[in-house]
Amino acid sequence: TTILGIETSCDETAASVVLRRPDGTGDILSSVVFSQLEEHAAYGGVVPEIAARAHVSVLDSLVAAALSDAGRTLDDMDAIAATSGPGLIGGLMVGLMTAKALAQVTGKPLYAVNHLEGHALTARLTDNLDFPYLLLLVSGGHTQIALVRGVDEYERWGTTIDDALGEAFDKTAKLLGLPYPGGPAVEKAAGGGDPKRFRLPVPLKGTPDPDFSFSGLKTAVRQLAEAQAPVSDQTICDICASFQRAVCLSLADRLDIAFSRFSERFPATADRALVIAGGVAANKALRSTLAEAAEKHGFRLVAPPLELCTDNAAMIAWAAAERRAAGIEGDPLDTAPRSRWPLDRQAETVVGSGK
Ligand code: ATP
Ligand code: MG
Ligand code: FE
Repeated sequence: TTILGIETSCDETAASVVLRRPDGTGDILSSVVFSQLEEHAAYGGVVPEIAARAHVSVLDSLVAAALSDAGRTLDDMDAIAATSGPGLIGGLMVGLMTAKALAQVTGKPLYAVNHLEGHALTARLTDNLDFPYLLLLVSGGHTQIALVRGVDEYERWGTTIDDALGEAFDKTAKLLGLPYPGGPAVEKAAGGGDPKRFRLPVPLKGTPDPDFSFSGLKTAVRQLAEAQAPVSDQTICDICASFQRAVCLSLADRLDIAFSRFSERFPATADRALVIAGGVAANKALRSTLAEAAEKHGFRLVAPPLELCTDNAAMIAWAAAERRAAGIEGDPLDTAPRSRWPLDRQAETVVGSGK
C-alpha cells in the first residue's frame, strides 16, 4: 500500500509518501516539512490565522515535492490521507480540503486521520513493535499517557488538566526572557544551572491517575523570578534547571502509575514498551529520566527519530496505511475537520458541520 499523507494541524505544513508492506514493515519514500516557526516567532506562539494562510500558500508545492521525491505520481497512490483533527481549524480545513479534492479527482479513497493516532502509531513504522504498548505524547499542544491496544483501539489513561508540557516550557522561557520556542532555550540554560538551588513543587504527586498539571509550576517560576529580580544569567539557568528537574520528577511519578497498571493488565506481555512522541521528547534530561523509569519497571523505551516525533506527514500516511491494513476502507468525502478529537473517541467520524 502506498499512501500520500498531508499534515496541517498546527504550525508545520507537511506532505509525505509512505509505503506499507503486508508483513507490517514500511518505508518513508518521501517526507517534506515546512516549519512556520519564523512567521510565529515574533508573536511568541502560533497565530491561527497566519498558520492557515501559510498552509494555503505552500501546501500545493509540498505535495508535488513529496510525490516527485518519492518518484511516484498520484496514480500510484492507493489512498490520500490528511489530518482531520485535533488542531487549529483553519489549518485542518486547508489540508483536509486538499486531500478531498485529490481523492475526488483520482477516485482514490480518503483517510481522515486523527493527528494523535499518527503520533501513536509512528513507532511501528520505525521499530519492530507489537500491540499493546504505552504511549507518552508530550508536545506543544498535547500531554498524555495512552494505552495503544491496536489500530483504532486506544485508551487515554492520563492527560493534562491545564497546560501542555511544551506550552509550559514555552511560557517559562517567555517569563525568563528566553527566545521562542522555549523548550530548546530552557534546556540549554538548564545545562548551565543548578537543579537543586530552587525547590519547585512536583505537580499532582501521589494522585491515583496518571494525569499532568503544569500551570502551578509556571506560576512558581514566575514568583521565583519576581522574588529574585533583577535576575542574573546564573539565576535564570538555575531556575531553568530547577523547572526541568520538577518536570522530570513529575513525569517519572506519573509513569510509575502507568507502568504498574500496564503490567497488571497484561501480565503475559513479555516485550513491554513505552513509546515517546512529540517535540518535547527532544529534551535530553527528559529522555534519560524516561529511560531510567522504564528500565526500573522492565519496559524498553522506544523513541522514533526526532523528525518523526515532531509534526510530520509520514505519520499521517502511515496511520492511514495501518487503518487500511486493519480493514478500514476510508472515510466519506463529507467528513468534517474537528478542532477537538480525543484519541479514545477515534471511531466517531463526524460528517457535516463537524461540531
Ligand atoms: P502538536 O501539539 O499539535 O502535536 P506542536 O507543534 O505544538 O504540535 P511539536 O512540534 O511536536 O508540537 O513540539 C513543539 C514543542 O516542543 C514546543 O512547545 C517546544 O518548546 C517543545 N520542545 C522542543 N524542543 C524541546 C526541548 N529540547 N526541551 C523541551 N521542550 C522542547
Ligand atoms: Mg509544531
Ligand atoms: Fe503533533
